Amino acid sequence: MGMLDELKENMGDLLFPRRCPLCGAVINRNERICSKCSKDVEFIRRPICRICGRPLYSCSCRRGDFAFVRNVSPLVYTKAAKRGIHRMKFNNAPSSCTYFGKLMANVVLSEYIDIGIDFDCVIGVPMYAEDYRRRGYNQATLLAKTVAEEIEVPHYVNVLVKYRKNRPQHTLSFQERQSNIRGVYRVARPEAVRGCVVLLCDDVTTSGSTLNECAETLLDAGARAVYCVTATVAVMSEMPAIKAAAFNAAWGF
Ligand SMILES: [Zn+2]
Ligand SMILES: [Zn+2]
Repeated sequence: MGMLDELKENMGDLLFPRRCPLCGAVINRNERICSKCSKDVEFIRRPICRICGRPLYSCSCRRGDFAFVRNVSPLVYTKAAKRGIHRMKFNNAPSSCTYFGKLMANVVLSEYIDIGIDFDCVIGVPMYAEDYRRRGYNQATLLAKTVAEEIEVPHYVNVLVKYRKNRPQHTLSFQERQSNIRGVYRVARPEAVRGCVVLLCDDVTTSGSTLNECAETLLDAGARAVYCVTATVAVMSEMPAIKAAAFNAAWGF
């Protein structure tokens, strides 16, 4: 690199410093995330539950629990991931969206596309129109857009819609979440999803109720199958000692 180019680049860094996509701290050119976040960020490693996408030690789901075939996620919902999701939701930070979206696309490639699953469209979990107007954008749609671009599959907007307002899922117990989400979505243009294999995107999954309800709605409208990808999955913060022992024994640790 010539001296002038280097000077230009340094000037650019001064005017528009690179920021950690998770917390917004200024980072060096050779860093993807800041050192504080990199200590806390947790990539999901095998063995992974082939239904909900959690690390196996923290999963308690059974086949038949969900209408979607499977969910996959690159990251555990740790403090750093939470900061990134929050930044994406409330600070309109496109770099956070790109960070999560690219990680999601990688896991979609390795877990779905590489084993021969062909997607017809990518759809983000929709927001209620009034909430969308207030915030100005929907983080699940932005993630879906990034994933769709990365895997070169069409991104559908305004096909799956949320037409009823409900209480925020995170304020409710696991049992309440299922009834709270029932019947809040519908497919505005069923002909768009009929016979399609859909990739459904969201930022975080906890109980899986939201993904499940969206998947059921899409299947009722004629979709052939629904696979999910979320930026993060919430796992129990501490695994019970007894479960840890059984896990270690099963996997030879
Ligand atoms: Zn950071
Ligand atoms: Zn599971």
